[in-house]
Amino acid sequence: MSAVEGRCACGAAGYTVAQAPDEVTECNCTLCTKLGGRWAYYAPADVALVGETIAYVRGDMAKPGLATHHCARCGAITHWAPLDPTYARMGVNVRLLDPAVIEDAAIRRVDGLSWDKDAG
Ligand SMILES: [Zn+2]
Repeated sequence: MSAVEGRCACGAAGYTVAQAPDEVTECNCTLCTKLGGRWAYYAPADVALVGETIAYVRGDMAKPGLATHHCARCGAITHWAPLDPTYARMGVNVRLLDPAVIEDAAIRRVDGLSWDKDAG
């Protein structure tokens, strides 16, 4: 396996991970749907972030668990990171990768919409 790079539309921000994801998560919650993210999960230590991003924490939940980040210039979603720094997982937006990189990845569909409803 070799490292793969995801870059935003303008190229200013993104990430490098040590290996291509073998699974891609599609979540149907309102946040993921509206932002258009498809995720691959990694330990934060295994993700090298690049460039300047702006964090967004959703305001419609009493206890949001994460912040999404988008490129400060073009607005493309680069990743999400947990608000609890001890949480050992983060997600990168696989839409920033060359599509060939995730061609063979399994698609996992997550029903995040039901968490939306529980969380208020
Ligand atoms: Zn950009």
